[in-house]
Amino acid sequence: MIKLTENRKEIFNIIKSSKKPISAKVIQSKIKDKLDCSTVYRTLEFLTKKQIINSVSFKGKSFYYYGTGGHFLFCKECGEIIAFDQCIIGDLESKIEDKFNYKITNHVLYFQGYCSKCYAAYQKKHGGQEL
Ligand SMILES: [Zn+2]
Ligand SMILES: [Zn+2]
Repeated sequence: MIKLTENRKEIFNIIKSSKKPISAKVIQSKIKDKLDCSTVYRTLEFLTKKQIINSVSFKGKSFYYYGTGGHFLFCKECGEIIAFDQCIIGDLESKIEDKFNYKITNHVLYFQGYCSKCYAAYQKKHGGQEL
């Protein structure tokens, strides 16, 4: 692992200890010695480029940052994100590698829909109608 400056280390640790991907704004609010926005963004860009952290964007909204994992549920109503570590891809990755003669290094998988709360609200509004 490359050596990280204090700022980089702190931001990396915030991301690593978070259970779900977090936005730059939330990261900034968790930093002890407040850093300005552009420093936070520059650091995030650096860490992403070096592949120390990953980023994901839902519905074209701003980026969320995470360490490992890459499996998400995203509620398109309230924006709640659930991250899970368990990989359900199985041998799909090697099948894709064979089919496209490709070497896959990682994947991001996200499912989009309604969380239980939003789905209940949807059904209520539409008289119990299924989606
Ligand atoms: Zn929701
Ligand atoms: Zn996976």
